Order: sequence, then structure tokens, then C-alpha cells
Amino acid sequence: MSAEKRPVPEALLHDLWRRQHFDTGALRTPGDRPVTVRAPGCPNTDAGPDFCQAHVRVGGQAWRGDVEIHRASSGWFDHDHHRDARYNAVALHVTLYADGWTGGLVREDGSPLPELVLAPHLTDPLRELLHEFRTRPNDDRALLCAPRWAEVPEALRADWVEKMAEERLEAKKQRLVDRYFAAPDVEALLQERLFAGLGYAKNDDAMGDLARRVPQALARRLAATDRRDLEALLLGLAGLIPDPSDLPEADRATADYASSLAERFERLRNEHAALAAPMEPARWQFFRLRPANFPPLRIAQAAALLAPGGVLHQDPLGQLLDAVHSEKPARALRALLEATAPTNFWKTHFRLEKATKERDPSVGRRRRDTLITNAVVPVLLLCAEQRGDDRLAAAVRALLRDLPGGSDRVTRRFRALGMRPENALEAQGQHQLYRTRCREARCLECRIGQHVLES
Ligand code: SF4
Repeated sequence: MSAEKRPVPEALLHDLWRRQHFDTGALRTPGDRPVTVRAPGCPNTDAGPDFCQAHVRVGGQAWRGDVEIHRASSGWFDHDHHRDARYNAVALHVTLYADGWTGGLVREDGSPLPELVLAPHLTDPLRELLHEFRTRPNDDRALLCAPRWAEVPEALRADWVEKMAEERLEAKKQRLVDRYFAAPDVEALLQERLFAGLGYAKNDDAMGDLARRVPQALARRLAATDRRDLEALLLGLAGLIPDPSDLPEADRATADYASSLAERFERLRNEHAALAAPMEPARWQFFRLRPANFPPLRIAQAAALLAPGGVLHQDPLGQLLDAVHSEKPARALRALLEATAPTNFWKTHFRLEKATKERDPSVGRRRRDTLITNAVVPVLLLCAEQRGDDRLAAAVRALLRDLPGGSDRVTRRFRALGMRPENALEAQGQHQLYRTRCREARCLECRIGQHVLES
């Protein structure tokens, strides 16, 4: 076997096609007809051809259809596509290498199928392409339209992202509207959203569930008298207080704290028969989490929000409205969420089983900004709608324009194309675009994709 005719994963070929990562200047079929790729199509994750809705020109004729990819032409027959009517819409068969079948493929309906052999057009040796493909972080996987991004006018991209931001805000608000009609309690919704925000991606559902189990009045009362009772209530309802007999190797202070929480939670359950049942410990994710995101610490921070000085302790909605209408709303809201330092125990613990080095256990500024965007903003938009308060709705958008855009897995994809989000509103737009269009390969429902196809 020649060094270059090594087996390569078809995933690499899909990636090269998706990114059009080859010399696209002088493509020709084996029969020497020119090939131009207008749009590579959308990856198909279901049964059927590999890419759908591609747009190619072969020998001067435009085709909109599917693309099927194999290592060599024989793959078309090996997989019986020549007998499968689902492949009659394939406009182009793309292979890495030519073989004895190249140039002789037919569809199930008997029509000849044009082909493109990529190997002569690769810009780098295969082993380098393969290495780059295998080592490239997922974050850097380019958007489908990346090769044509520069052709899209900047104003069109900016308008579309702004529209996406509005769509995202509306969707977030609508989810709360539905919940509000089921149980019209804005403060409970705020508690749920703040808890879920602290749970981050992996424990947001579980934190939201916990928030619904915590009776606000009881929590505030306990917080005013004994913070440790409040932590016992929350961690006990979460099902996360370990049995003291399961801590034979914990240091004395850790074991004592866990025992104290267990006793307190037991007492609270006896005193408050209406308390919800504890959650299953298996609901909580620890795997691949940074210790700072471990649920016990996040729950202790949530308890701090309910304690005196925390935004949830007294008149949360009034405090939020004052802050958002203040001279510097972003700063005022950050300050409201600042009281997230739990009891001293958490300076040396991420969980209840063992001690670690001392550090500040409160929620950092970036996470507080995320809480504002994902928890506070939707609740304020709900209030604006309930009250018909346009001034509040405008203040919420101004607030988002005042918060930094930040950097995450989604915004980095757009930043790689030169579109760095200037503020949190733009970042929201990029998230909506990526999650509802790019990730689903719904480029035909995207103005950027439509522009690329039409140009
Ligand atoms: S949905 Fe739009 S922005 Fe996303 S990859 Fe497709 S064309 Fe590009």
C-alpha cells in the first residue's frame, strides 16, 4: 500500500467537505467536466446521504441535492446505494481516491452520477490533515458557512444576530410565562432560575428541582436565626448530606460538620411534615466538573442568596427593579448578587466529604454576570410583560448591552470568523443562532446561509 493510500476515517472526509478544505479552484469530474461547489450542504445525522441540500454546478449545470462521500468509488456499490431510491437525489459522489469504478456510477433510477475525487486537490499531506483533525479542539470546529463567511455583508450578519438575540430573549421569557400561568409566583421563579444558574450546564435541572422543593418562607426564617440550619435544609433536600458512618477517613472538622447537618436536617423533617422528600443523590453530576462547580458548594452559595444580605432574603423583585432602573444597572445587579459567600466551612471544602486548601468560596464576577443574563433578565422580561411596562423592557436590553459579551464555546466559533460579541446581547444572539440553526445545520433558515446560497 502506498504511503498516501492509507485507510482514513470517513469522518475526516466529511470534515474536509464540510469546511471545503481543499483547493476548490479547478475541480473536475473524472470525465473532465468543471465542478463548482456553491454550498457543501448540511451534514445529515439520519439515515440517507451524508450531506443534504448541497448546491453544486457540474459541467455548467446547477444541481441542488445531496452529497454522498466514500473513500473510493466502490463504496457506492459496497453500500448498495445503486439499488436505493433514497440516493436518487444525490447530486455528487465525493471520494478520496479513484478506483476501477470511478466515472461509472449510476443511481437507482439508472441516471449517471457525477463524481469528484479529492486526493489531487488536497492542500496538505493526508497524515497532517488527519493529525490536525484528531487534535483540533471541538471548539474550533468551524461553522458550515465559514469558507464563504467573508462574502456576507457585515451589516447583514449584525442584523441577523440582533434578530436572533430578540428571538432568544422571547424564548426565555416565554418559558417563564408558561410556568407563571401554572403557578403565578414570580419570586419562586426567580429562586428557581438563580439556583439553576448556579448549577451551570450539568446540574441546572437538579438545582431547579431543588429550588422548587425549598419553601421560601421557612428558608428565610431559618437563615435569619441559624445559617447552618438553612444549609442543612438545602443540602438535606438535595439528598447530599453523607451518612456520618460513610466518612471514616474525613478529618474531624469535616465529619463534625456533616454530622451536624445530618442531625439538623432530621430535626427539620420532624418539625415540618410538609417538607418535600429528599432528591436522589444520583441526580447530581460530579463527573468532569471543576471542584468549584461541585453541587454541595453551589448549594451552599444558593443558601447564601436566601440569607440576610442575599437577594432572595427580602423583597427580591423590588431590589431587582431598583437596581435595573438605577444609574449603573450592571454594577447594581452584580452587587445584589455579591452575597454568595457561604459559611466558613466552605472556605476549605467543595463537598462534605473532605477538606481542601483555603480559598474564597463566593461566586465570581463572571458567573454573576451569567446569572444576570440567564436568571435575572428573563424574570424582569416576564415582569415587563405582566405589567405592560415598556420602560422596564427597554432597561433590560440596555442592561444586556452594558454587560460584556464574554467568551465561551459558542462565541469562540464566531470570534474565529472575526465576529467578537461586543456585549451580552450580541452573545445571546450568537447562542441562539448556533443552537437553533448552525448546530442543526438549518442553514436554509438562516439569512447568512440564504445570502451565501443566493450569491
Ligand atoms: S446556520 Fe447560518 S451562521 Fe450557522 S452555519 Fe449555517 S449559514 Fe452559517
